[in-house]
Amino acid sequence: MDIGQFIKGMPKVELHAHLNGSLSTKTLIELGKLEYGESNNEFQRICESFQQKQEFTLEECFKKFPIAHALTKTKDGLRRALLSVIRDFALDNVVYLELRTTPKTTTKMSKTEYLETVFETIRLASSMYPDICVKLLPSIDRSKGIEFAKDTVHLVLKALKTHADLIKGIDLSGNPASGSFNDYTKILSEARNNNLKLALHCAEIDNDGETYEMLQFGMDRCGHGTYMSSQNLNIAKEKQIPIECCLTSNVKCGTVKSYQEHHFKNLYSSKHPVVLCTDDSGVFDTTLSEEFIIAQKTFDLKKKDLEVLSLRAVDVSFASPLEKEVMKTKICKYFYD
Ligand SMILES: [Zn+2]
Repeated sequence: MDIGQFIKGMPKVELHAHLNGSLSTKTLIELGKLEYGESNNEFQRICESFQQKQEFTLEECFKKFPIAHALTKTKDGLRRALLSVIRDFALDNVVYLELRTTPKTTTKMSKTEYLETVFETIRLASSMYPDICVKLLPSIDRSKGIEFAKDTVHLVLKALKTHADLIKGIDLSGNPASGSFNDYTKILSEARNNNLKLALHCAEIDNDGETYEMLQFGMDRCGHGTYMSSQNLNIAKEKQIPIECCLTSNVKCGTVKSYQEHHFKNLYSSKHPVVLCTDDSGVFDTTLSEEFIIAQKTFDLKKKDLEVLSLRAVDVSFASPLEKEVMKTKICKYFYD
């Protein structure tokens, strides 16, 4: 079997995926037709431009975000979007998915309704797509400010009473240049003290001081870890903080010049816990299999490396010990049967 096919069939673990960014172009078009009808000219125009192209510029990629937001503002839209994303990951043989989304008030839903719709849909998906286990990391969006963040965490803590099996942690994301990390330490500590894991976007931009503060504060996983000074990298290594590497996202956004120069290479060869993730598979037009294929080709990974990476992703996931056991059995069966 060729290595690409082997990777596609491989049971995979996705730990860094944002709901809206994971909506594929095909799904956006389908959802748009349902929401606006076939005759909406503006939407038709955007859809046609998506359909005609294979490759998108960064500017074109980012045009997908507002469309995804608009299509998930109703309960039905959110439900359809979430089911499509889970289906797409399941079709890519992802067996475990930690999905991130910012609970938000829309013109059609309260923040609580948004979150409840997400839980309901994840439970519905477990019967429709039984081969994939989905967990939620509600997001704090830095650009929305501290009061919004507090409200989100308190809502999530309340939801833990009935959905503790689905909520595994909190994600800190959004514009990394907005606000200061220190503003969020109190609310993140509260989340941590209530047994929520922390997956923080960190060192996404060049800001050594803030990266240092974040690493000192601690986190269960670091998203991206692109701009790490050697001092900060040493702290991450001492603390053994796993780093989620999103190759295509970083290259397309221009935070990393090329696949060859991606920090994944040094992290992996120094045996630091590192995982491959998609970030926004829809926006950047990729899949987790595709990310593994790129890593395999770029860094000449062998089957043993693919196994190590897969098992490491299980280890650093926020799944329960039993869920981890099930995933490891699936992975080992695939590699050794
Ligand atoms: Zn991200």
